Amino acid sequence: MKDILTAPFMTEMIRTATNMYAHGWDERNGGNISMLLDEAETAGYLAIPGIVRTIPTGFEAPGLDGKIFLVTGTGKYFKNVQYDPAKNLGIVRLAENGTEAEVLWGFSDGGRFTSEFPAHVMSHIARMRTDPLNRVIMHCHPGNLLAMTYVHDLDERAFTRTLWQMCTECIVVFPDGVNVLPWMLCGTNEIGEATAEKMETARLVVWAQHGIYGAGRDLDETFGLIETAEKAAEIYLKIAHLPIKNTITDDEMHLLETRFGVKARDGYLD
Ligand SMILES: [Zn+2]
Repeated sequence: MKDILTAPFMTEMIRTATNMYAHGWDERNGGNISMLLDEAETAGYLAIPGIVRTIPTGFEAPGLDGKIFLVTGTGKYFKNVQYDPAKNLGIVRLAENGTEAEVLWGFSDGGRFTSEFPAHVMSHIARMRTDPLNRVIMHCHPGNLLAMTYVHDLDERAFTRTLWQMCTECIVVFPDGVNVLPWMLCGTNEIGEATAEKMETARLVVWAQHGIYGAGRDLDETFGLIETAEKAAEIYLKIAHLPIKNTITDDEMHLLETRFGVKARDGYLD
């Protein structure tokens, strides 16, 4: 067996968690990531079946039995992932209609996956319905997006249009826009279901007064989505209290659509 800490999916996960912490998005034990692994990429790194122990998930996820996820641990700090990946991360395989998670590696101190795992798994299911190649769900607390939910209308069209207007590249990076959930109790199946429903139409879902969920085909894409939306929110907070003299018009947005071959969400541009 090769050293799993040298597997590309593992080094990418460690770098991403470290980078998210460095961006200030994951204070204390804030944030969580899950990445769907395909069995072929774990070959040579993981002995299958090799079940270390089994943890009840507290939810049902029909159709996902046998799916393997690399996921961050509950109560664990992103800043520590790079120093002890085996304690702060784990690899689990879903079984028994998703009601059980078989630990294949990690959570070495007896820990378990993030308390937001229900929201992650439901979001994976929802995203894969829209994009079968989706593999990553990422949650964090970027300061500017979070601040924006205190002062900006939470209407999804209005919120999205404001972000698109803040940087030229926004509509190119997230033409599907940003969906928004009002404040809800986190760690519950209810917020998981609500997030998953929002994930069917956009890869970014803001949790008001809490943070954001992102989805993508790999860690870079998902990180980049959140990074771009967060940059736009930063610009918004720099200018929202000033008289606005210029903006990116809808006509200019249409030029961006043509130039970059993207289609803005239906009804979001005039
Ligand atoms: Zn959170």
